[in-house]
Amino acid sequence: MKENFNVAEEFGVDVFNNHVMKLRLPKNVYKNLKSAMEGKSELSLEDADSIANVMKNWAVEKGATHFTHWFQPLTGSTAEKHDSFISAPDSEGRIIMEFSGKELIKGEPDASSFPSGGLRATFEARGYTAWDCTSPAFIRHDGTGAILVIPTAFCSYTGEALDQKTPLLRSMDAINEQALRIVRLFGNTSSKTVTPSVGAEQEYFIVDRDKYLQRKDLIYTGRTLFGASPAKGQELDDHYFGVIRERIGEFMRDVNQELWKLGVSARTQHNEVAPGQHELAPIYAQCNIATDNNQLTMEILKKVAYHHNLVCLLHEKPFEGVNGSGKHDNWSLTTDDGINLLNPGKTPHENIQFLLVLGAVMKAVDTHSDLLRESAANVGNDQRLGANEAPPAIISIFLGEQLEDVINQLIDKGDATSSIQKGKLHTGASALPDLNKDATDRNRTSPFAFTGNKFEFRMVGSSDSIAPANVVLNTIVAESFKEIADELENAEDFNMAVHDMIKKLFTEHQRILFNGNGYSEEWAEEAHRRGLPDIKNMVDAIPALTTDKALKLYEQFGVFTKTELLSRAEIKYEAYKKTVNIEAKSMLNISSKQIIPAVISYTTELANSIAAVSEAGIEPTTQKAILADVTENLNAMYKAQTELKEAVEKGATITDPKEAAHFFRDTVSAKMKELRDPADRLEMIVDKEYWPFPSYGDLIFEV
Ligand code: ADP
Ligand code: MG
Repeated sequence: MKENFNVAEEFGVDVFNNHVMKLRLPKNVYKNLKSAMEGKSELSLEDADSIANVMKNWAVEKGATHFTHWFQPLTGSTAEKHDSFISAPDSEGRIIMEFSGKELIKGEPDASSFPSGGLRATFEARGYTAWDCTSPAFIRHDGTGAILVIPTAFCSYTGEALDQKTPLLRSMDAINEQALRIVRLFGNTSSKTVTPSVGAEQEYFIVDRDKYLQRKDLIYTGRTLFGASPAKGQELDDHYFGVIRERIGEFMRDVNQELWKLGVSARTQHNEVAPGQHELAPIYAQCNIATDNNQLTMEILKKVAYHHNLVCLLHEKPFEGVNGSGKHDNWSLTTDDGINLLNPGKTPHENIQFLLVLGAVMKAVDTHSDLLRESAANVGNDQRLGANEAPPAIISIFLGEQLEDVINQLIDKGDATSSIQKGKLHTGASALPDLNKDATDRNRTSPFAFTGNKFEFRMVGSSDSIAPANVVLNTIVAESFKEIADELENAEDFNMAVHDMIKKLFTEHQRILFNGNGYSEEWAEEAHRRGLPDIKNMVDAIPALTTDKALKLYEQFGVFTKTELLSRAEIKYEAYKKTVNIEAKSMLNISSKQIIPAVISYTTELANSIAAVSEAGIEPTTQKAILADVTENLNAMYKAQTELKEAVEKGATITDPKEAAHFFRDTVSAKMKELRDPADRLEMIVDKEYWPFPSYGDLIFEV
């Protein structure tokens, strides 16, 4: 941590950004690169050589010895392999630092050990990484030295996407093309591109590293598999927005400095609802850059925590009984000349283009809510979604009072003639100013909320990539735009046609709107009545990827081929099975080697006490009662442990990924719970001196 860190000077110092490129690249090469970044032309090998050379010189000046193609395989995290810039030694044994255009543009990592979902056999190892020139290269300083990191996409020898980024870039092309058709309908001839803007708020937990190292469950699975609730949880709401503790503050300060140097515009930080939980939000950026930046943010959070002898837990539900962590994906559409298509203005009822875009989003989300739900499905998120905290598992849209009123006017009267205006907030104290109110309150229980000039998709898990969610959003809205533009471009009377179209969109898709409490039982019942899907877990979400509807959607925009979708579904089933399997085996390990032996030691102490007290001629009533209680739970644990072991063994024999995922969800998970319950009860009875690892209270309150 630097004491006098000058943010304006240090921001982006380790990034090969536009400023550096403009300064260092030959003029014509810079021009060609810009044109390639805008997707207008391809870069020649000559230009690539020139860029690579300039990039290498810049990186070497900053101490870099290696470069890497950085990509996002379907593991949820990032991957990289480092190559140094050194050339083969000359006849005198000396080397120079080299980096060619070919090396910049294309890499060839062995693809066989990354998840491919049947797309590749292990003997077919070739895969390629391709430079994403729209996301800037940067230098990472850490234990390995300084490395030039080049963001890339990753695909197989036959061109199938093996990563998160390729479909994301494809979906950005799709929405760009279709959104331009929409703005052209309204006479806009000046905007040249429409890009999704994304800001991802990141939640995380921080625990002390020494305590973490005593918890095998955290080490192996990222979450606690045992643990009784502490005496105090989050019920007092005293952590949320509370004063940030000194040790955490120092950590946050370091995180910010590291992120700023990497050009990530970390902006907001605060304590979250659960004790030990915090949040970081950046300023929004172009979709693919925001995705890369979020991966970097997770990486930096973990790395910096380590330096402070802390551990950052990105798991969606590290602790039972307190809130889990998510990632709010804020999404809007921006033209290159700065128009936000989701900005309603002061009088939304008069903003026809906005209403049309709003209708298009409603249609998209209503038609493809299963895909949106699937995009947020990962094993950790199963512990969180719908569990009375983060958004419910049912997808609905919150628009707020003002927009719902406009929509109702349109549906009921055929015309919208007014917008509810924002009022003044009277604070009632003469020393305080009266405040301008927003036209609409917020709703934090909605999974997909309109928040003024953007939508906030709140389902994504805290450890997950935001790429899949944005692939879905971009593509489903592109489809809506396409269907709308196909019709309106041919309309004889545009004004009439667009009015009818908006009314039709609102009428047909109003069932997706919900302004009430998304956590309530009544909403679940109402949603079922409306026929909205209620997909409760990851295993049930996966089939959405391969329906005819999904296939038609993705194929028409070239975002995914059928083979790619099938492979992604298979990868997810496998990931589910493997993750639960690791959790189950970790539980067996902890229970048989740590908890049961500790409890047995404690029973011995109790038994000794009973014998000693009896010998003294007094009836040891309490000791006997405790011993009976402990023994009963110990027996229950041992029984559940044996059954869980059998279930895991049976699961290992199931080869079909889908069938295995079902088995692990239904049978193995149930046995895991049966093992946990008596163990957590025992934690409350057994002398703390005997308990083999730190408790919830130790972990979340004592950082
Ligand atoms: P909120 O309080 O509604 O969550 P913030 O202003 O804190 O709003 O923004 C949350 C996140 O949304 C930030 O990452 C921010 O940069 C991002 N954001 C703000 N405006 C937009 C927009 N138009 N499009 C996409 N993201 C946005
Ligand atoms: Mg928010």
